[in-house]
Amino acid sequence: MSTTFAQLGVPDSLCRALERNGIHKPFEIQAATIADALDGQDICGRAPTGSGKTLAFGIPLVVNTSQANPKRPRALILAPTRELADQIAVELRTFAAQTRVGVVYGGVSYGNQIKRLKQGVDILVACPGRLEDLIGQNAVNLCEVDQVVIDEADRMADMGFLPSVRRILDQTADRPQTLLFSATLDGDVAKLTRDYQHNPATHEIGDTRPDVTAVDHRFLTVDKTERIGVCVDVITATGSTILFCRTRHGSDRLARQLTQRGINAAAIHGGHAQNRRTRTLQQFIDGRIEALVATDVAARGIHVDEVASVIHFDPPEDHKAYLHRSGRTARAGQSGLVVSLIQSDQVGDTKRMQRQLGLEQPITSPNRLSLDTVRTNRPKQQVPDAPNRNGQKPAGQSRNHRGRSNSNSDNRNGHKPTGRRQDKRKRSNTNSNRNGHSPTGRRQDRPQGQNRNKASRTRAK
Ligand code: ADP
Ligand code: MG
Repeated sequence: MSTTFAQLGVPDSLCRALERNGIHKPFEIQAATIADALDGQDICGRAPTGSGKTLAFGIPLVVNTSQANPKRPRALILAPTRELADQIAVELRTFAAQTRVGVVYGGVSYGNQIKRLKQGVDILVACPGRLEDLIGQNAVNLCEVDQVVIDEADRMADMGFLPSVRRILDQTADRPQTLLFSATLDGDVAKLTRDYQHNPATHEIGDTRPDVTAVDHRFLTVDKTERIGVCVDVITATGSTILFCRTRHGSDRLARQLTQRGINAAAIHGGHAQNRRTRTLQQFIDGRIEALVATDVAARGIHVDEVASVIHFDPPEDHKAYLHRSGRTARAGQSGLVVSLIQSDQVGDTKRMQRQLGLEQPITSPNRLSLDTVRTNRPKQQVPDAPNRNGQKPAGQSRNHRGRSNSNSDNRNGHKPTGRRQDKRKRSNTNSNRNGHSPTGRRQDRPQGQNRNKASRTRAK
């Protein structure tokens, strides 16, 4: 029998809010971590992209976070990119009506962020660089933060953010509860766990290999001149596509070349102002842009439902990057197409990478692509104001990136913390949570010490 959110200790009011947003049953990583996280335990979670990590940490945070004083958030979520930070905030707000969720990142003006912090933010979602800036300006103080989430810790490490993350963690309340999520738990991420987590419950979900049953991986040999044509074919056949380039310049050029071939394409990378990146992403989500050309950094953590395909226009740096990039499609159990374009001098590296990933697909020529066999997730629907290369409207459906109702008025519920954390951890202030429900009490039945000092591991295909 599969677990329900209520059985994990999630208060009824919050279960109902989740239901209204189309969230009925916990995904595996959520079933594995929510009860321990609600209980105040540190969590170290590895799970593939699209497995539902945001709610795995978001639900316990919303339940346990109490009202913050001005400039002193009670919970902090660190995320590597602006887009991911925004997406986390949006997702939490869909069910956390009474919790004030704020978000801070660089590339936009300080004014609004400082104002919101002054008004009081209960859960702060932040990119490390801007957060440190704001701390330096006394716009925010972390001394009352007693729950911290480190999302996409491996990517934070890749992007060189870990020193900043450490400085930030050093400024939080004494021994905050830390919830760390990452696609990999080795290297610097393991050091972070060692230095900042206390007997974390470790949960590893899924294989590190890509799920080849859901994703159709194709490896195509192309020469430079053929690449654009193959991209056009894939986008035309499948619909919304994210294409990965190595450089900002390369992304801009590819977007331009696709546009010249009649595709609604745009680039997204760190060289663009934040408002432009936000606008571009929204246009892609709305279906007005069919092809999003991204650098690795910009694409990390972007969540858009129903991306039909991913194209590795330039090869990924390594097999981990292949997984991160490819994880943009086939999210939440849907199918998807992943196409790698390989030039003759890249065949050796590609074969090596395939071995690391356990992928055995042949490296073939593009005329074997047979796109008519590709499964797409994309329902056909006309979108106004975006003629495609034939002067017709594209078939892309408006992609609400939550893929479900977002009505705020539905969410007037009070999520009461279970109060258990107060017993277990010294809290730095005694503000009570303003929601008025009683705890489920379910977790108190569990024998003390269970799942505590021993890492519990969940492995599944
Ligand atoms: P990750 O952070 O692991 O890459 P996300 O948290 O972004 O994945 O979740 C991927 C998608 O699955 C999102 O659209 C999210 O709303 C949806 N989702 C998460 N949990 C559930 C659930 N229990 N039931 C249905 N949809 C879910
Ligand atoms: Mg995520």
